[in-house]
Amino acid sequence: MSPNLLIPKWHATRRFWRSMRALTPMQTRFPTSATNTFEPIEMRAVRLHKTGDIRFEHIDMVGEPGPNEVRVSVSFAGICGSDIHNYKTGQWISRAPSIAGHEFSGVVEKTGPGVESCQVGDHIVADSRCYCSSCPNCLAGEHHLCRNLGFVGEAIDGGFAEYVILPQTLIQKCGQDTRLDIAALAEPLAVGLHALSRLQLDAGQPLLILGCGPIGALAAIACAVTSDRPLLVSDMNAERQTRVARCAKARPVTLNEFDQVDNPTGQVVRHVLDTTGNPGVIAGLISKLTGSQICLVGIGAGTIELDPVELVEKEIALLGVHAFKDELPKAVDLLAAHPDQFGALIAPFISLEATPERYAELANGKVSGIKTMIEIAREAR
Ligand SMILES: [Zn+2]
Ligand SMILES: [Zn+2]
Repeated sequence: MSPNLLIPKWHATRRFWRSMRALTPMQTRFPTSATNTFEPIEMRAVRLHKTGDIRFEHIDMVGEPGPNEVRVSVSFAGICGSDIHNYKTGQWISRAPSIAGHEFSGVVEKTGPGVESCQVGDHIVADSRCYCSSCPNCLAGEHHLCRNLGFVGEAIDGGFAEYVILPQTLIQKCGQDTRLDIAALAEPLAVGLHALSRLQLDAGQPLLILGCGPIGALAAIACAVTSDRPLLVSDMNAERQTRVARCAKARPVTLNEFDQVDNPTGQVVRHVLDTTGNPGVIAGLISKLTGSQICLVGIGAGTIELDPVELVEKEIALLGVHAFKDELPKAVDLLAAHPDQFGALIAPFISLEATPERYAELANGKVSGIKTMIEIAREAR
C-alpha cells in the first residue's frame, strides 16, 4: 500500500477515537472482554518542546503499563507556577518533548504486573517526585531531597494528557467520593503543608504569608481549617489578596505597611511564609524582622545581597522548602474534608486545547483566578 493511501485512513481513525472519547464512557473505550480488543491509538496531550514552545497535540497512545506501573486516565490537572517557570526559562528541561503537568488526579485504568497498592477504578492523585530510592537521602526517607530528584512532567511524562503511566510508588489513592477537581490540588497543598511544618508554629502563633498564588492560598486555607491561627496575607495583586483573605479569614496587609509588632493580629509576628521568591521582597522582610523564621518556598529569579551579621544579630532563620516530604496523604484528607474552602481557589477551568494559550497569559503575568485547572476527562469528575 502506498503511503498516500494510508493518510485518509489515519485521519479517519483519529476522528473516530476523538469522537469516541467525547461521546462514550471510559468502559466502552476500554472493554474488558477478551473478544473486543479496541484500544485508542492516540491521545490528546500538551507537550513542552523547548523554552517558550508548548503545544497541544494528538500523539501516540501510551503503551501497556510495565511491571509495577499503573496506567491512569487523567481527570484534572493544575498548572503550577513552576510549569510556567520551566516554560519561560527551560531550566528543568531534561528531555523533550515532554508531556507537562505534575499536579493531577485521575482513575486507575490498567495495572501492570506486580502492582498491589491500587486497582482498576481507584481514584488517585500523583506524587510528583521522581526519586531514586537508593541515595542516602532516599534511604533516610527524605525523598524530596533525593540526589537524583526529577519531577513528573519533566523526568517522565506528566498529566497534561488523557493517559499517563506512573510507577506505583507515585500513586496516592484518594477516596472514591472525593471530587477529582479538588483532589488535583493535593500536590501543591502538600507543598504548603510541608512549608508550614518547617516553620514549627505553636498553636495560636500568628503567620504572615507573602504571595497569594496557589501555594500561599492553599497554606492559608489549611491554617484556617485546622487552627485559629491569626493570619496576615499580602500580594501585589489586589484581587488575589482579597480573595485569599476572604477564603482564609485572614487580614490583608501590604509589605510596606507591615510592622512586626504593630499589626492587625495584635501579636508579634515571628513566622513568615514567602511564596514570592522575589529577592527584593525577601530583603525587605529581613530588614523588618527580629527573632524570626522566614520559610522560602517561591521560585523566583535573581540574587539577594545578604549581610550575615544582620541574620546573626537579629536571629533570623531562613528555611528552604523543596516540594514536600510525607504530607501528600494529609493533603488528600484535608481536601476531602473541606472541598468548598479549597475548591474556591480553582478558576478558571480550561481544556487541554486551550492550555498553550493559558501558558502565554500566565507567562505574561495576566493572572485571574488562583489555580488554573485543566479539565481532561469530564466523565470521571
Ligand atoms: Zn506544582
Ligand atoms: Zn534518591
